[in-house]
Amino acid sequence: MPYTIDETHDPSLESWVESANDPNTDFPIQNLPFCEFELIDPRDDEDERPRLGIRLGDSFIDVEILREARLLDGAIDHDEIHFWNFHNVPYASREELSAVRQRIAQLFSTASDALRSNEWLTKAGVIPASRVRNTLPEGMIGDYTDFYASLYHATNVGSMFRPDNPLLPNYKHIPIGYHGRASSVVASGTPVRRPVGQQAPAEEGGSPSFGPCKLFDYELEMGAIIARGNELGESISIADAEDHILGLCLLNDWSARDLQKWEYQPLGPFLAKNFATTVSPYIVTMEALAPFRCPAQERAAGDPQPLPYMDSDDNRASGGFDITLEVHLSSQQMRDKGIDPVRLTRGNFKDMYWTFAQMVAHHSVNGCNLQPGDLLGSGTVSGPTRDSRGAMIELTWDGDPFSDPPVVAPGTQRTPITLPTGEERKFLADGDEVILKGYCERDGYRRIGFGECRGIVTPARSV
Ligand code: MN
Repeated sequence: MPYTIDETHDPSLESWVESANDPNTDFPIQNLPFCEFELIDPRDDEDERPRLGIRLGDSFIDVEILREARLLDGAIDHDEIHFWNFHNVPYASREELSAVRQRIAQLFSTASDALRSNEWLTKAGVIPASRVRNTLPEGMIGDYTDFYASLYHATNVGSMFRPDNPLLPNYKHIPIGYHGRASSVVASGTPVRRPVGQQAPAEEGGSPSFGPCKLFDYELEMGAIIARGNELGESISIADAEDHILGLCLLNDWSARDLQKWEYQPLGPFLAKNFATTVSPYIVTMEALAPFRCPAQERAAGDPQPLPYMDSDDNRASGGFDITLEVHLSSQQMRDKGIDPVRLTRGNFKDMYWTFAQMVAHHSVNGCNLQPGDLLGSGTVSGPTRDSRGAMIELTWDGDPFSDPPVVAPGTQRTPITLPTGEERKFLADGDEVILKGYCERDGYRRIGFGECRGIVTPARSV
């Protein structure tokens, strides 16, 4: 069932946490994303454990303190463990999540005094962002699957790797994916070491080389966190698929293109991808995203329609998400000189060929069991224009299979990106920081955002 828009989405709703009313914040009272945080310098009387938070403006709400103060009673059972820590939130039901959202929106709205009038509780339970760091609970991410759901990305990359045969015949029939590694999913801000490995021979028939990756790249993606799962042997219908998604985050699928080119056939990506995947700290719930839904991408005349298990009226009408997505980059030199990061890309998540509901239905159609806390990556979000390409391999590539007439240049034809310092990039250099951002805007609603997904490239280990 699609989520309905209710009073928690009302754009006139304001909070007594003043920073949440800033029109530019990612975290107005209409958003209320879940996260985990810990205090940077806890005082003796403060808890140093990581705890479940909800981000509001420039503050973090300590959910446990509100629960212990019995302020969530009536919304959830006091002993209900789903809101004791971040790890348990994916096990909560849709109804529980809705009830908590309702209650938090009430408690923090300017209309309510219930919490605001208690000075001790306000101080203990509402913590300024400057005192906090985000964390990702160990074991929070169960399994990780990455998809390939942008036709634009698949066609661009396919044109480089296989100029004669860019889009394989299965692409428009099944959401293509591969199983990644949950063990190397890291929190935003974690440095990412340049991987080492075998690289594609310089010429066909040659021998591979071995050493630090030379073609190091990022991929701009959205992640979906699975809520309730399905029993092994059962499947999730397209109608129920979104009830199995807790919410979305930003995801950077770091990619070693030279390793990838050498290893990806016949079984797909392996060491080119599994050394690190960065996720943003906040899970923006499906309910918060309700005002920003849009139709699934319309298929071109002549494209096959999805099989019935991946097709529904709801999915066609509102299976997509209107989320503006950006990639920013800063080099070490830029930071040394105090130059702000530059934006490399601005695209939109509505440009995906497959929806998350279709990915969930497809992933489980064979009886594969999804579990609470599983992470699905959408695949690189690329749009039809050069400035909406979500990976550097596409951004610097001179081909354009979507122009009229199409230009499909060989993979080596590249125009580098020039940074404000005059440095040039065809791929990432050591010291580069990649920053993903995402936000939703629509007339008549408050803007909500996803925060940032950051990672700095550090040098490869010596081999
Ligand atoms: Mn990917």
